[in-house]
Amino acid sequence: MSDIINLLPDAVANQIAAGEVVQRPASAVKELLENAIDAGADNIKLIIKDAGRALIQIIDNGRGMSPTDARMSFERHATSKIKKAEDLFDIRSMGFRGEALASIAAIAQVELKTRPHDQNMGTQILIEGSEVKEQTDIATQAGTIFSIKNLFFNTPARRNFLKSNMVETRHIQEEFNRVALMHPHIAFSFYDEDRRKSVLSTGSLKQRIVELFGKKLNTRILAVEERTDLVSISGFIGKPEIARKTRGEQYFFVNKRFIKHPYLNHAVQNAYEELIPQGYFPSYFINFDIDPKMIDVNIHPTKTEISFQDERTIYQILRASVKMVLGKFAFSPQLDFEREMSFDAAPLPANIEPKQPSIHINPDYNPFEEESNNTTPKTGSQWVPPQKTERELHNQDQWQQLYEGLDEGNAQLNIRSNLDTEPVLDVQNMNLFQIGGQYIASSVDGGLLLIDQRAAHERVLYDRFSEIMAQENPACQRKLFPEVVAFSPADLDLIRELWVEIHKLGFELKELNNNEIQILGAPPDIVNEASNRILEGLLEHYKNNQIEVRLDKKSNILLSMAKNLSVRVNQVLKPEEMNALIEALLESEEYAYSPSGQKIMAIIDINQLNSLFGPR
Ligand code: ADP
Ligand code: MG
Repeated sequence: MSDIINLLPDAVANQIAAGEVVQRPASAVKELLENAIDAGADNIKLIIKDAGRALIQIIDNGRGMSPTDARMSFERHATSKIKKAEDLFDIRSMGFRGEALASIAAIAQVELKTRPHDQNMGTQILIEGSEVKEQTDIATQAGTIFSIKNLFFNTPARRNFLKSNMVETRHIQEEFNRVALMHPHIAFSFYDEDRRKSVLSTGSLKQRIVELFGKKLNTRILAVEERTDLVSISGFIGKPEIARKTRGEQYFFVNKRFIKHPYLNHAVQNAYEELIPQGYFPSYFINFDIDPKMIDVNIHPTKTEISFQDERTIYQILRASVKMVLGKFAFSPQLDFEREMSFDAAPLPANIEPKQPSIHINPDYNPFEEESNNTTPKTGSQWVPPQKTERELHNQDQWQQLYEGLDEGNAQLNIRSNLDTEPVLDVQNMNLFQIGGQYIASSVDGGLLLIDQRAAHERVLYDRFSEIMAQENPACQRKLFPEVVAFSPADLDLIRELWVEIHKLGFELKELNNNEIQILGAPPDIVNEASNRILEGLLEHYKNNQIEVRLDKKSNILLSMAKNLSVRVNQVLKPEEMNALIEALLESEEYAYSPSGQKIMAIIDINQLNSLFGPR
């Protein structure tokens, strides 16, 4: 029998390897961003076209490459980051396998322009399907520009696996966020076609979090900081009040690299257990700084899973330090007006010294033994929830009728003892007034009830549209004069993707030529409003939600409609409007939280009012 084994040509081997490194445009974005960081850049710009299919461009001001290095960088296993086997155990850079560029160049047309800061001339290389087409000296800015064109041009099967532009762009944004989060000293920007998606200036980690995830976080995250010989933990966790029903902002990093770690996630979730309702997820942005020797270096470049030696101890340290931060927060005085007033942390009388919970680690603790039952307090746990003072207990008695759930730091406010009974509040007899164009307030027995009007309206609308969508044939009111609206190609794609759901809301649409949509009918409730604006708003919210939270199509549509139509801040409400809103709210089973997970009501009790005036 003749010999039949051949060595695969490099180009083929690279293409196969590429399948592992580059699954979608977002993977190439991640590799290129990490390279720019490893090159010491402090300004990195990302531009994509057609969700990264047509173009991914990364411009950095890092150290650049010599002509030889530029050429070498595309070879497989070519890296400047490790030289010998021992280096493998001390990796601090983002990449080290020397595979990314070889892989990307195997499945795209790549243009590289690069110049070291101390050289006058730079290098340009054009490479396509692993084949170098051109290498020339050119004038270019110091640093490096990678342009990846027509990704997967020679691997149509992979190209066909890609999802809609919306989804691919969301993946890119997510990779961008992960990299940008841990490098707040680097300025980043991200443009989709000509639309600016993120522009991040340099600053602290907290500023970066706020820039990426919204100003609302500014007063709603708490610093976590814990140094031990084994690991240093640092970052921020969300206050219990911003926990959400979706796993939105949960970020772990190891030595600044994003990782997923269900076991450690459990540690954080567990630390919040008595502070947030079941089914809610806390936000966190936490980095573990650890000696690279203690982690498995043999992780696959695209895998975000990682294993540590001594995971149990890290679990303990993490859980204890998150608990401590939450415990301190619950004891801090509540005269911070930026914070929403709530019950989870009533101020202590002045003569009582807050006892700070301390960290104690039990090396034998196994969190999963009790996992199925994680809302009950742990008997073996070292952290004891704050005890209520006499005064608080007395006060609680008086309030029992109006709300329950005050105990054990549970911030949820119940206005019914159970869902079948009538609400305790009688809206007809309440004297409602508006505060700051944001809150509906009413004096209730012994305190001040505050309702966030926008959150309340969101809840009411969400419930209403979810009823509409559950119907066989949703009501649709035909328009006498159908409007015609032009959309961008991307938005039109989204409308097509959501065609069925939009019709289930009660819209009737017809696609015309030239990217135009004719609105033939709309849900009866909103038929008098400009349906073009409502449709555009729906898309806008939908896209934002896609980036901020992971929701299925239907929940996202419902949430988007609710956000889209809810009253704005500063909208003056007439007394009968406030009445109608609160009445509708009290009918909802989920009257306490808006669909985006925000708290709807709070009560300031007489003690909290007293504390505003200081001792007398
Ligand atoms: P790795 O990052 O694992 O070393 P890559 O294939 O991503 O492998 O990159 C190969 C090499 O090319 C890097 O080690 C680095 O020396 C060089 N390189 C890549 N991108 C840049 C860049 N933006 N600026 C400077 N050098 C770069
Ligand atoms: Mg790399």
